[in-house]
Amino acid sequence: MTYSEKYIVENLIKYSEEFRNYYNSERQKIQSEIIWKRDKKLRQGINFRTTQIDDKHYIYLRNVPPSPINASKIAHELQHIVHRSIGIPSVGFKEMKYDYLSSAINSCIHDLLVNRDIIEYEFDLYDDYLEERKESRAALKTIIKEPTDKLELLHWAFNYASSILDYEFMLREYDIDEDHT
Ligand SMILES: [Zn+2]
Repeated sequence: MTYSEKYIVENLIKYSEEFRNYYNSERQKIQSEIIWKRDKKLRQGINFRTTQIDDKHYIYLRNVPPSPINASKIAHELQHIVHRSIGIPSVGFKEMKYDYLSSAINSCIHDLLVNRDIIEYEFDLYDDYLEERKESRAALKTIIKEPTDKLELLHWAFNYASSILDYEFMLREYDIDEDHT
């Protein structure tokens, strides 16, 4: 099921000043088509993701329309597309089985750049970080044994690197007490 962008961003623009400012300055940098899709089958712990197939960008959301509480998440996904539009290279995939792995590699590197850009609009990324960490820990608890499949192992390695890099980013940007992390 696809949705119009107007429907997706309407409440975010209305209720989030950060998103309104972000959207007004950054959205125009994306020229290619964005397809907004609901996907109830996103992996646990992932509520939003973006991917590119040919010259089309897809943004998947678990719930539609997104709540203004998640405005920063939508800005984050859009900023990934802005980066691709201005030519920052990313990893692609030829077979669907590499879809999630290529996302994990891209997130590992690009999320830092994306967050550095959107933090300028004063989104509270630390709150998002804490919530995401809680969700990934819950997702990890449902895994009974570690993966033996090479693709899954690689996926884990990149997710692990991402979590360290995200943590260091938060330490740099926010005045957080290390004991409570
Ligand atoms: Zn990302």
